[in-house]
Amino acid sequence: MSQPYELDVLNPATEEVIATVPGALAHDVDAAVARAARAQRGWAAAAPADRARLLRRFAAVVDDHIEALARLEVREAGHTIGNARWEAGNVRDLLDYAAGGVERLTGRQIPVPGGIDLTILEPLGVVGVIAPWNFPMPIAAWGTAPALAAGNAVILKPAETTPLTALRLAELALEAGLPEHLFQVLPGRGDLAGDALVRHPGVAKIVFTGSTRIGKRIMSLCADQVKRVTLELGGKSPNIVFADADIEAAAAAAPMSFLDNSGQDCCARTRILVQRSVYDDFLDRLAPALKSVVVGDPADENTQMGPLISRVQLDRVRSYVTDDLATVTGSAPEGPGFWFPPTLVTGAAPDAPVATEEVFGPVAAVLPFDDEDEAVRLANATEYGLSGSIWTRDVGRALRVSGAVAAGNLSVNSHSSVRYWTPFGGYGQSGLGRELGPDALTAFTETKNVFISTEA
Ligand code: NAD
Repeated sequence: MSQPYELDVLNPATEEVIATVPGALAHDVDAAVARAARAQRGWAAAAPADRARLLRRFAAVVDDHIEALARLEVREAGHTIGNARWEAGNVRDLLDYAAGGVERLTGRQIPVPGGIDLTILEPLGVVGVIAPWNFPMPIAAWGTAPALAAGNAVILKPAETTPLTALRLAELALEAGLPEHLFQVLPGRGDLAGDALVRHPGVAKIVFTGSTRIGKRIMSLCADQVKRVTLELGGKSPNIVFADADIEAAAAAAPMSFLDNSGQDCCARTRILVQRSVYDDFLDRLAPALKSVVVGDPADENTQMGPLISRVQLDRVRSYVTDDLATVTGSAPEGPGFWFPPTLVTGAAPDAPVATEEVFGPVAAVLPFDDEDEAVRLANATEYGLSGSIWTRDVGRALRVSGAVAAGNLSVNSHSSVRYWTPFGGYGQSGLGRELGPDALTAFTETKNVFISTEA
């Protein structure tokens, strides 16, 4: 398709069209890559301290606009205002953290006979970041901030449904003084703009977050050019509750571990595995906690859960909660908007779709287990391996199970997964490579080794 097209951006809480933006085509990607390549050369040649200063200024400008960015996120993604403020603040923190790495991105000098051997980290060039709609701002910044800090230019393709905060961030980058065209945002369809970015020979690396299906496709396209690629894909993360845990605390924490962001979270703990001896006690506490979650207008300060992103997503989530399944459900508004209530599925077979596939909605399956071996077996009975939680008071068990569960991000007696200063990424089909943390900048560099003879 080479016809011009537009993307309608809907408020998922009301279904109103709040903006229409032009969608990029392959020739727009070509032009953006050419502009980015020129900007990148100047950026890479600039003094590290100047690059760091500009990124810190970008962070400061974002900080000045937290509330406005958060309000925009509420309108285009239906996120609760509390979450949206955190997300905008996360962009600021990612930029600040990456800025601190610019002058610390050092190579090595390794002793060799007959000369000096230098290991140099060079920027890759132009990096393509393809972002999803579930956390439009943070996930865009996970790739963008360290890529810029390491001396690259970035072309960001936001998801079709959520281009507005990304476009605003590009404006704020210019306001902060970042060179023109160093950070460009190209809204557009995945199969048009996204595909063109992946195939473009002038793009050195793709950072993709989204579905495993599209991630595999992108990985195979990158293989044609041996293009660098980082993939953050789906998850079906377990929340393992042992009988020796603080059951009250585990039950109180479980609802928001899969309802936050309406369950549209790759780390959502959507398989709640409970030791059989405390299963009934745990469910008795979990059910009222689930029903008390406040679902409604995401702009209301008291709301804990908003709508799903789109009708497509609503239909998809509905398809998993079939009539034959026993459920415990919370409340959701009636009327316009893409609403689905908090839902626990009890008694599903461990291999049922709702217990094995990524629903990406406010739905969790609760399954019993008998002992530690069975808990680990069930936890690992998935093609994914992104996150997971282990609730126990036994330190030895916590360490044993953390070692045995094949996932990139685990938490004990907690559901936290993502910090900008610790590494994040998946095992198995949850992804490839790691983002965030102290090595984030290195992932946007090429390593060059130079030997200089002292004997010539
Ligand atoms: P998706 O994978 O289709 O889209 C993610 C991004 O990739 C978007 O920017 C999209 O435009 C782009 N894209 C789509 N097709 C492309 C292509 N052929 N080439 C290049 N880019 C392309 O995800 P989705 O349809 O928005 O969501 C579907 C499912 O994916 C969800 O239900 C969920 O299971 C999963 N998902 C996971 C995450 C995550 O954070 N791991 C995020 C979003 C979605």
